[in-house]
Amino acid sequence: MTKYVYFFGAERAEGSSVMRNLLGGKGCELAEMTNLGIPVPPGFTVTTQAWVHYQRAGRRSPEGLWEQILEHLGRLEEVAAVKFGDSERPLLVSVRSGARVSMPGMMETILNLGLNDVTVEGLATRTKDERFAWDCYRRFVTMFGSVVLGIKRSVFEAPLDGVKRRLGVATDADVPADELRKLVRTYQDEVAARTGSPFPQDVREQLRRAIESVFQSWFAKKATEYRRIHGIPEDWGTAVTVMAMVFGNLGRRSGTGVGFTRDPRTGEPRFYAEFLPNAQGEDVVAGIRTPLPIEALHEQMPAIYDQLLAIAARLERHYKDMQDIEFTVQEDDLYILQTRSGKRSARAAVKVAVDLEKEHVIDQHAAILRIRPPEVNEAIRPVFDDREKAAAVAAGRLLARGLPAAPGAAVGRIEFDPERAVELAKEGEKVILVRPETSPEDVAGMYAAQGIVTSRGGRTSHAAVVAVGMGKACVVGATDLAIDEARRSFDVRGQTVRAGEIISVDGGTGEVILGAIETVEGRPDEEVQTLLEWADFYRKGGLGVRANADTPVDAERARRFGAEGIGLVRTEHMFFAADRIRMVREMIMATDQAARRAALAQLRPLQREDFIGIFRAMDGLPVTIRLLDPPLHEFLPNWKEYKEMVERKSRLEALESEPEERRRLEQLIGAVERLREANPMLGHRGCRLGITHPEIYGMQVRAIMEAACTAAEQGIRVEPEIMIPLTGTVGEMKETIEQTRRVADGVIAEMGVPVRYLVGTMIEVPRAALIAQKLAEHAEFFSFGTNDLTQLTFGVSRDDVAQFLPRYLDMGLLTADPFAVLDQEGVGELVALGIDRGRRRRADLKVGICGEHGGEGSSVEFCHKVGMDYVSCSPYLIPGARVAAAQARIKERLAGGGERS
Ligand code: PEP
Ligand code: MG
Repeated sequence: MTKYVYFFGAERAEGSSVMRNLLGGKGCELAEMTNLGIPVPPGFTVTTQAWVHYQRAGRRSPEGLWEQILEHLGRLEEVAAVKFGDSERPLLVSVRSGARVSMPGMMETILNLGLNDVTVEGLATRTKDERFAWDCYRRFVTMFGSVVLGIKRSVFEAPLDGVKRRLGVATDADVPADELRKLVRTYQDEVAARTGSPFPQDVREQLRRAIESVFQSWFAKKATEYRRIHGIPEDWGTAVTVMAMVFGNLGRRSGTGVGFTRDPRTGEPRFYAEFLPNAQGEDVVAGIRTPLPIEALHEQMPAIYDQLLAIAARLERHYKDMQDIEFTVQEDDLYILQTRSGKRSARAAVKVAVDLEKEHVIDQHAAILRIRPPEVNEAIRPVFDDREKAAAVAAGRLLARGLPAAPGAAVGRIEFDPERAVELAKEGEKVILVRPETSPEDVAGMYAAQGIVTSRGGRTSHAAVVAVGMGKACVVGATDLAIDEARRSFDVRGQTVRAGEIISVDGGTGEVILGAIETVEGRPDEEVQTLLEWADFYRKGGLGVRANADTPVDAERARRFGAEGIGLVRTEHMFFAADRIRMVREMIMATDQAARRAALAQLRPLQREDFIGIFRAMDGLPVTIRLLDPPLHEFLPNWKEYKEMVERKSRLEALESEPEERRRLEQLIGAVERLREANPMLGHRGCRLGITHPEIYGMQVRAIMEAACTAAEQGIRVEPEIMIPLTGTVGEMKETIEQTRRVADGVIAEMGVPVRYLVGTMIEVPRAALIAQKLAEHAEFFSFGTNDLTQLTFGVSRDDVAQFLPRYLDMGLLTADPFAVLDQEGVGELVALGIDRGRRRRADLKVGICGEHGGEGSSVEFCHKVGMDYVSCSPYLIPGARVAAAQARIKERLAGGGERS
């Protein structure tokens, strides 16, 4: 018989941390803590395997499950010395979800289960607190009614609000016992009217239905959305933990709280927690009541505070990571209800990892492996310009100061509705989501927003915790904002601010400012610097990291971020500059060679100057410059402008005016029509352009080599690498390389500066990978252009993939966007094969990657495995790529691998 239920309690548990997949995060850590002797209320966990069998059988419990639950319930009664459903000493339980990875607030929890019309009286007598007992019952009927019976929460909340209004009291805690008793009756009548059956009095039936509902809550919309955002597989399912209730709402000597062993925003090593006296756990997490700083616990119950701190420190050492702990104090007894690895900002992630190494808790390998590469990039993302911000505040634009919940500088348009925020973001709009508080339903909207502001809630409220995990700037508890969702505006100190207006949010200081504030480049702080130094040390002998950069300014930035050269200069970006597009158009529209050469002659000095700037920024490092790649029509007016031109031309013709302008329009229209292609991505571009228009490549090679020679004369150490795009045949390779060498050698001879240079190719069409051996006869290096290679291997246009990608991801037909995460099975196979074949012909063939994948963690690891020399990515992704490259090498060493092949 399969074991579906695992017990924990009385300092002994059947599970442990290593059983995470089976018991879920919550269940396995409760077991682990029990074994460590930490005070945890007893209980049992129903496994994820039970969930799988339940779902497979069409939502029917697998054989033996219920019997096992009852058996463990018996054990629980023994350990807790109370009985489920007993009229005098009733056991109450919580029923909690718990997946393998934490999905905070996404699934359901039911508290105070085991109450009915009889046990509520027992609870009242036993606790000598009638109000407390009826409050628990009221909460239970609400939770069970909404979660299990599917009745809207407002059905229960409205009568409670009505009572509060009638009594003229502000909080739930002020509603007396007899009113609560009446409320429960009202609730039960509502349940009977809406479901056709009375509220279940059989506590076992309550338990069975609650467990099944928690199972089903895996499929709740918010949970499904969360899984999609975080790439969590659909078929993992959730475990369910049934645990004896402990009560934080038993009066002044009770309470509940949430705490982090370090500050999740900054990583500072201090206990960062909040406490809410006389309350149940859900009150804190939901952000409904604003909790007090943990100092309140220190003052009111110093012994409990000390005990909590000691447990927190112990848990952190045990798990070797920052922990997020939920605790409850019941009449001077402390209980830990949950511990998990705490969500943290990117900066905090780096600081915690580096600090733990310094504290000898983990080693450098572990510290590096623990960081997700994007976190390093995020840790040095832009911050607000201090001077601009001070000026905005001085000018009276500071709207509010709330609690700084998640660091970051965000600017965007105000939006109050999370769903609308998602839509606006899809349209490319930057939004700031402003809400009274957030709930798990809002997660997609939070994800779509640049930043989040709430008027209520504390530092551990839903908004704060989720934003920290998502890396979004967040300010909570900005109590000055009186939000009116219906009117889509908020009032603040006599001023009304509406949806659509721009605000700036500083999640590091808690400031909310009207209007946009400029941001400036962030600087790596000490810990980021340390981590990157470690990464570079462990990366030695592995992958180099270069940048894709098109201008001297980009190149300088790249170097500051640690680039070891440039892997791709897209020369066409230099053509797009406003003052140059005219010359480019002249070149394209030239009707004869002479006119074309004249236009090119104007462009050459400009390109040369850019190249000199780039060589200077990259003094001593290689610079790979790609010759023109996109089809020429990209430099001409687009389709919309074309139509406008046609209309304008006919208007002018009708008026018989402006003959000069008519001629200009005619030429442009003619060029657009001549160059129009059905499928430009597969059309007249890349080296095809260089072959049909050798004068264009000739001009570019000349500009590159003139720049290299000039820079070399100035004492700059140059290493130019000239790269031919989109090669697919040996003929193309031979032709373009010979052309290039002729021009380059000519310039060197003319200028008399002996610059060494390489000529190589991009591998972007599958055929190039297949004939790599022959291409390597001519090419001195390969750079995998995996954007095009992905497009051409899948036969999916990179511009059109968005049309169906979301559906494919939803259906699991793809696990990731192949234009972001390298498809190792298909495209990767071509990459590996291309490298292998290329090196067969030329053993010292230099190989890199310059598609977007060069900055993505798993793709970088792949590039390491297949023996590339370097990856190249956007300057902002370089820190992450350095860490990813180190991780690849460390993993290889830990797996016992030696040097790469
Ligand atoms: C590529 O195709 O991967 C590449 C880097 O070139 P581009 O994105 O400019 O086509
Ligand atoms: Mg390309």
